[in-house]
Amino acid sequence: MSAVTGPPEELAARRAELTPMLQQYVDRCQEHDDALVLFRVGDFYKTFCEIAEEVARICELTLIEREDSTGTYAAAGIPVDNAAEYLDALLDAGHRIAIADQVEDPSEVTGIVDRAVTQVITPGTVVDDELLSPDSTYVAAVVDDESAAGSGSAVASIDVSTGDCRVTSAPTREAAREELARVAPAELLLGPSVTSFEVDYPTTGWDEDAFAAETARERLSAYTDPGRFTPVETRAVGGLLAYAEYTQGGDGPLEYVSRVGRYDPADHLQLDGAALRSLELFENRGGGERSGDTLFDVVNETVCALGRRRLEAWLRRPLVERDAIEARHQAVAELSEATLLREELRDRLSVAYDLERLVSRVSRERANARDLRSVAATLAVVPDLTAALSDAEAPRLQQLREELTELGEMRALIESAIAENPPQEITEGGIIRDGFDNELDEVRSTEREGREWVAELEQQERERTGIENLDVGHNQVHGYYIEVTNSHLDEVPDEYRRRQTLKNAERFVTPALRRREDEILGAAERADALEYDRFREVRAEVADAADRLQALATGLGRLDALLSLATVAVGPDWCRPTFHDGDDGDEPLQIEAGRHPVVARAQPEFVPNGTELAPGSVALITGPNMSGKSTYMRQVGLIVVLAQAGGFVPAESASLPVVDRVFTRVGASDDIAGGQSTFMREMSELTDILHDATEDSLVLLDEVGRGTSTADGLAIARAATEFLHDEVGGRTMFATHYHDLTALADERAGVFNLHFTAMREGNDVTFLHRVDEGPSSSSYGIEVARMAGVPEPVVERSRALVDESAAGAATDRAQAAPAEPRAAESEARRSAGRETPPASGDGGRTVEPQTDAAEMAQTGGQQTLPEIVNAAPDGSEPADGEPTAAEAELVEELRSLDVARTTPLEALNRLQELQQLVEDQ
Ligand code: ADP
Ligand code: MG
Repeated sequence: MSAVTGPPEELAARRAELTPMLQQYVDRCQEHDDALVLFRVGDFYKTFCEIAEEVARICELTLIEREDSTGTYAAAGIPVDNAAEYLDALLDAGHRIAIADQVEDPSEVTGIVDRAVTQVITPGTVVDDELLSPDSTYVAAVVDDESAAGSGSAVASIDVSTGDCRVTSAPTREAAREELARVAPAELLLGPSVTSFEVDYPTTGWDEDAFAAETARERLSAYTDPGRFTPVETRAVGGLLAYAEYTQGGDGPLEYVSRVGRYDPADHLQLDGAALRSLELFENRGGGERSGDTLFDVVNETVCALGRRRLEAWLRRPLVERDAIEARHQAVAELSEATLLREELRDRLSVAYDLERLVSRVSRERANARDLRSVAATLAVVPDLTAALSDAEAPRLQQLREELTELGEMRALIESAIAENPPQEITEGGIIRDGFDNELDEVRSTEREGREWVAELEQQERERTGIENLDVGHNQVHGYYIEVTNSHLDEVPDEYRRRQTLKNAERFVTPALRRREDEILGAAERADALEYDRFREVRAEVADAADRLQALATGLGRLDALLSLATVAVGPDWCRPTFHDGDDGDEPLQIEAGRHPVVARAQPEFVPNGTELAPGSVALITGPNMSGKSTYMRQVGLIVVLAQAGGFVPAESASLPVVDRVFTRVGASDDIAGGQSTFMREMSELTDILHDATEDSLVLLDEVGRGTSTADGLAIARAATEFLHDEVGGRTMFATHYHDLTALADERAGVFNLHFTAMREGNDVTFLHRVDEGPSSSSYGIEVARMAGVPEPVVERSRALVDESAAGAATDRAQAAPAEPRAAESEARRSAGRETPPASGDGGRTVEPQTDAAEMAQTGGQQTLPEIVNAAPDGSEPADGEPTAAEAELVEELRSLDVARTTPLEALNRLQELQQLVEDQ
């Protein structure tokens, strides 16, 4: 949080001398000294002195001078009516915002109106519609178990705008981090001992005491039975709820948080942060914002906010129970075939409001009359939905029909009580309908009769007095009056009392008129008060039904999510996946003509590819850069995720196992855009996979090992592949530029090669994007370099170097010893693998270039750049044609370049230096 919090120094120092209003401002700032206090004055949220300067700077507001009897102060005001964008800017700048609102009616107090902080706005606890995206916004807390026997952590999360609150245990910090990646909180609270916990979310300091066992337990017991939770879970969720309460004004439990639940991440397909990122489920890797290039964007055809959030949750946590998955598929199948039904349902749902957030506003006593009408309008949709679903056959749809309770009484109550188009304000009348409340009706008729009496008065008095131009009027200051022009003053009756003198006329009242006036005013005021009371009663009654309304909201969201998946499913070439598990668990994962849903949507000429992965198999995928390796692997990952979320998939057919986890790792240099790609991180991620992957997992490795020298990288890639094959036995796909790795296919039954080809015409390369069996023969690195614009002399020189080193390698190869027995090595790895990343013990042997001489001849001896580098002398393996000193220097330069830590600009400069080196020869 920013440093500009607490009261402005000057004001705090001179508090006693200040005007009562500024004193109050200082006090509120003092009470919320970790937040930026916005102080309601009239139609503005005001700030003063250095805080005003900060606000003016961030919000681009003009700083004004405020003068009173005690001095002149800088002030900045945010207009209350369109505060949203300013609040957004302040949040973005890292501020926590405390809204100090007037809590007394200015017309009823003499002196200064009392103000209290009614809401604290933080990135994770925003509840105002104007500030909220329709997506879920979570604040999370992570707490370590500090008890004697303790181990592990707990992760709790809450969406304050909907009341969705849950907690889970994580055995390790790493597991906690992964869980957080799935939650994707907008804000994170760190428990007392959770220091040095590096995450990408804004973290917030929060009261340590709130996380103390007893305090947290007590807090939680106001929501649910704390007995259901472990001690560390209780501390996490209890502390988090305290924070949620604090942000909502801090008086007592949040009624609408009625569903505090605990869950086990293993109840769903687990996608860790790296998988969510690299599969681009919700975020495009190019940047953070949703930009039309994610899986979510492709499958999101929801028509209301409830469905949108539900669908997002389904993709974040796909199912792992075959029955549940197939139940969704059956519903999606039925809805995708019944076009009319589907469109009717979507049409109806599209007028549903965001019931979850409405209910939470109702419970927080923030809902106005319009909100209640929105609740009723949403309830009005339900009978049509259930009627439309009456012939549904899929059990999931039938069940959903049962879940959609009509709550007819609630709707009738709101519709009979609340005016159809009520005003925004709830204190100024016009919100309760006639006929709803006897007392209100009486008061209103008194008011009406009074006004009618006044309206008739003019005519009456004209007749009575004979003054033809006598007028009856009303103004703010003097109220009702009878106006008589000066020429008729002598005709005025005795009981007229003078009220006001004008230039050409006098204004009068009569005792009867004054009585009526009091009656009218009293009745109007009384009516407003009554309306406000009735409104609050109705709102409280709706709040009492919060549970049922939330259940209905969930049902509506589910229906919308199913309809969305069904709408996508009718698209060309989407199919219903089938599943196998248990007895038939030996069957392969099999996809025919699969497509990458996101890439294929943008590229109509997308080339479909099939996939077949038996249990325990490893597919090694080679091919030139840009040939489609990454896309192909991600397409398999996305199809698996989508299928288990309940969706149809972009393929001709898909027969799938139920997968427990999808791991994806992208090698450091492929991830350079992320900025933080170090080899260390790559390796620690690899470690996680080797630890956590099971025989039911899908592991997608993309160029892993790239962040280090070729020798080490290849060794690690090989050892990891062997381990995944020999020990883990899940399904693995490994896209690699280490051509040498392809030899593993000859040694292990489950390892096989796939490759992508490119066609070479003259010096140009065309990518076919078609996957074929067997290893790639060449990776066309130099052509790609040429296409990318590397200057011709460098390209030519590279060709020459390749030819030389190919000749050398071929000689080398001929001299190499036959492969050694593997059993002993494998045993050694087995014992080491669970503890540490696989050691590069056999690196020395596997680094040697193994390009087949015959292949070389056939392809013109093309090699990848790493192979060129590798062929250079490093002391251990003198090649046949010893390179010149300059060549050696060139190669050494290349070798020493830490790509992961080089900026594009540096890289360009280095490239130019290298080019110079070549040209100098
Ligand atoms: P690699 O990982 O082999 O370097 P990518 O998977 O990143 O290659 O693909 C490079 C580009 O090729 C993608 O951005 C995409 O535009 C295109 N591409 C990939 N696969 C296909 C395909 N099956 N059909 C058509 N275009 C494809
Ligand atoms: Mg790639």
